[in-house]
Amino acid sequence: MKDIIVVQDILPLDSPKRVGKMVKPSYITIHETETGLEITDEKFNYKWYRTILDDYSSTIGYHFLVEANNNEPSRIYQFLETNVYTHHTGNAIGNQQSIGIERIVNKNTDMIRAIDTQAFLTAILMKKFDIPIENVLPHKYWNNKDCPSRLLAGLYCDWDSFINKVKEFYSKDIELDGIKYK
Ligand SMILES: [Zn+2]
Repeated sequence: MKDIIVVQDILPLDSPKRVGKMVKPSYITIHETETGLEITDEKFNYKWYRTILDDYSSTIGYHFLVEANNNEPSRIYQFLETNVYTHHTGNAIGNQQSIGIERIVNKNTDMIRAIDTQAFLTAILMKKFDIPIENVLPHKYWNNKDCPSRLLAGLYCDWDSFINKVKEFYSKDIELDGIKYK
C-alpha cells in the first residue's frame, strides 16, 4: 500500500504502559475503538486517543494506532517499541506476547482503507517477527471482550476477509519504513 504515513510518538520511558519486556512478539492482537461508527464524533481521533495514553493512573496501552480519515493519507502511529509489553488484552499471554494494533473508528473514518492499513501493518509485523497467520487474533480471543466488534460482526469486512487481506499482503514483497523495532 502506498501513501501510509508512519508517525513515531513513543511514550516516555517512565510511562506506566511500559509494563515489561517481551521475550519475543509471538502474536498480533487486532483491536478497534469502541465507540460507534456514525455516532462517534470525529474529535475521537488520534489526538484524543493519544491524550488517554498520558493517563499515568492506567497501565492500559497498545503499540500501534491506525487512522484513515476521509481525504487524508492513512496514518500509523507507534506508541511503544515492539519488545515492550503492555495491558491490552485482559490476558497474561496476550499482554506479554502480543503486539496490539488499535484502529480508530469515527464518522470521518474511511473504514475499508483503515481495515486495509491495519491488515498491511499486520503483514509487515508477521514478516519481521516470523509470526504465523494462526497467531493473528482478535482481542476477543484473549478475554471474550467484543473487540474488534464491527469486524467480528462483519460490518464493511468480516474476520475471515480481514485474514485473507493479511495473507494477500504477506504474499507480496512489501515494506514499510519508519517502524521502530526492538
Ligand atoms: Zn480491543
